Amino acid sequence: MPKQERRCVACRQVGNQNDLIRIAKIDGEFVLDKLHKLGGRGAYICNNSNCLNLVIKKHLLNKAFKTNVNSSIYEELISYEQNN
Ligand SMILES: [Zn+2]
Repeated sequence: MPKQERRCVACRQVGNQNDLIRIAKIDGEFVLDKLHKLGGRGAYICNNSNCLNLVIKKHLLNKAFKTNVNSSIYEELISYEQNN
């Protein structure tokens, strides 16, 4: 498998897999891939409230996936952020 670059979509830093949250696109659906086990296209966000809030506020996943990401994934990120 080619090594995947894990770059945060908010701060553009390449991070350690354990410090990043993965969002996966599978069959057109966006899911929070907490365990980094899902396939598909992925986008990464640092596991800190700065980057999470930036992604939520600016809808940066839309840019990362070059499509309109359904708002439910942002709601999931909001509750994820609030529970951590
Ligand atoms: Zn970041």
